[in-house]
Order: sequence, then C-alpha cells, then structure tokens
Amino acid sequence: MIVVMKSGCRKEDVDHVVQLIRERGLKDHVIVGTDRTVVAAIGDKRHLDMTAIENASMVDRLVPILAPYKVASREVKTSPSVIPLGPNASVGGTKVSVIAGPCSVENEKQILGTAQAVMKAGAVGLRGGAFKPRTNPYDFQGLGEEGLKLLSKARDETGLAIVTEVMSIDQVDLVAEYADVLQIGTRNMHNFNLLMAAGKTQKTIMLKRGWSASLNEFLLAAEYIINEGNTNVILCERGIRTHETYVRNTLPLAIIPAINRESHLPIVVDPSQGTGHAYMVPQMSKAAVAAGADGLLIEVHPDPEHALTDGAQSITHGAFEGLMHELGLIADAVGRTMQLGPN
Ligand code: PEP
Ligand code: MN
Repeated sequence: MIVVMKSGCRKEDVDHVVQLIRERGLKDHVIVGTDRTVVAAIGDKRHLDMTAIENASMVDRLVPILAPYKVASREVKTSPSVIPLGPNASVGGTKVSVIAGPCSVENEKQILGTAQAVMKAGAVGLRGGAFKPRTNPYDFQGLGEEGLKLLSKARDETGLAIVTEVMSIDQVDLVAEYADVLQIGTRNMHNFNLLMAAGKTQKTIMLKRGWSASLNEFLLAAEYIINEGNTNVILCERGIRTHETYVRNTLPLAIIPAINRESHLPIVVDPSQGTGHAYMVPQMSKAAVAAGADGLLIEVHPDPEHALTDGAQSITHGAFEGLMHELGLIADAVGRTMQLGPN
C-alpha cells in the first residue's frame, strides 16, 4: 500500500505516518518526489486497521500496490532512479553509462592495462571477476582476494568504479571492502539469502537476471535487496536460455521497455554473456542503447584469444574504443548522452 502525502507536508507528518506503519508491524519506505512524498507500507495488511493512517495529518490517500513487487515498482516511485556507481558516476536518468573490462582478473598487467584502455575510451566503470562462478569445477576459478586488490589498484590509477561479483554470503564483507558495486550473477539471482545479505550493505548492487527467470522473478529478486534497506540496485539483462544454439544466450532487449514500465530501477545490458560472440557485441550494444538501456556491461580483453575466461565473447581494446565512438552517435540519436568517465 502507498500512503500519498499532501503536497507541502512537513517532515513531522511523514515521521508520524512512518511510526503508525511500524506500529502495525509493517515496513516503511519513504520516497521524496519532486512534488509529492509517498510512504510505502510493506507487509500483510489483511487484518490491520488502517484508518489511523488514512486520517493522519497531511495524508492525501491510500493506494494499493497492485504489482507483486512493491518497492521496486513504478507504482511506488514514478520517476526513474539514478543509482550511484562509485563516488564519481551513476547509472540511470538521461545518461548512458558503460562498464567494461575482462571477464576475470588474470594478472596485474592485464587488469591495469585494460583499466587504462577502457577509461581512455570513456567507460565509467571497470568490471572483472575475482570470484568466478564456473560451470566446470576444473576451470579457472578467479584470483580471489588477490584479484580484488588488483581491481582496487586499477581504481586508484584510473578513477573507474569497480564492479565485481560476490558469489556467497561469506564473501560479501570482503568484496564490499574493495568494490564499489557488488555484482550478483545469473546463477545466484534466486539465492535469496545472498540477496538479503547484499541488501544489508551500503554498496550498489548490480543484479543480473537469472537465465531462466521471468521479468516478475527478476524484479522480485531486486525487491529482496531493497527490502533490506539498500535501494541502490541496478538491473542487468544478460540473456536467457532458449532453444537457440547460434548464441550462448538469447538477449531479449524487449525487457528494457518492459522494465521501464514496471520499475523505476535502471537497467543495463550485458551483450557479452548475452551473445557469447565478440563479433555480435558491437551491434547488440548499439541496439541496447537505441532501445533505451541505461548502460552496458562489456567484456574487454587485451588478448581475447588467450583469455582465461570468456575470450570468445570479449572484444579487444581497439574494438572497444571504436564502439564507444559509435555509441555516442546512437545515444545522441535517441536523446541520451554518454556519461563522461574520469578520462
Ligand atoms: C560475468 O559477468 O562474467 C558473469 C559470470 O556473468 P553472468 O552471471 O551473467 O553469467
Ligand atoms: Mn564472463
């Protein structure tokens, strides 16, 4: 349920409504909009008396939230959210933000060189897995904390925000110590305990869509995070499993307008996991921006042929630079601008 406050209400009026909500054992979520403040009351209200809230000072009306997700929904917050990406950048709003880097951190030269290259080309964030969720237990599993240290060195040298995956609850504190953004991977989208642990941190969370998850399940997963008090969630479409074999995953760009309609959260697209093929990445990146994506997560490697993970879908430094130029033209054409990085 949403408590819509009258315009001109004071902080005391909102605090009073919050108190009434809490007294009923419900969770509150205050959203201060440009013209109206609303307070979402989350929880089972079937046997609760809401008249005191309805009659409270400066309350305009109570509106039920129809969507199964509440705090992630557009019903609760009508304006798009702009989510911080480290101290100097953000995702959402009118800008297009690009996060790029290798699938995994392999060594110092690889990650620092790629950080410089993507920063110079205009990226705002550096990606790179230190803990890698691998389908095959004999494949490279990532450098662990050593990889996190290298990422943090790359941030010191470039000013890029660091985006890296956290695979389990016991890694949350460690990864949060080094990263600006905690990535929750496709295999963990349904790991509700991990989602809640991420929601207890103050870090921005990049939540990837489960490869078999519906849009509904995706937004409910985001809801788990926000419900714990962390509203800084960026959604990431990374492709879903279908019968197709010419791609690693099928990249459904129609989710962009659908998310925009259902939720205030920004959505970025990962065309690398989304296709599995480097040659498809530039076109799908441009298509995503044309379709209204708030950003991109792109795998870039200095030597894709020798990458330890996901080389087939990684583009070179040179290809990335060329792509960034083209993305600027597409962004312009659809009324967006590229967010300027630290370069
Ligand atoms: C990745 O970003 O390298 C990755 C493992 O992503 P996903 O969880 O989408 O497969
Ligand atoms: Mn990858």
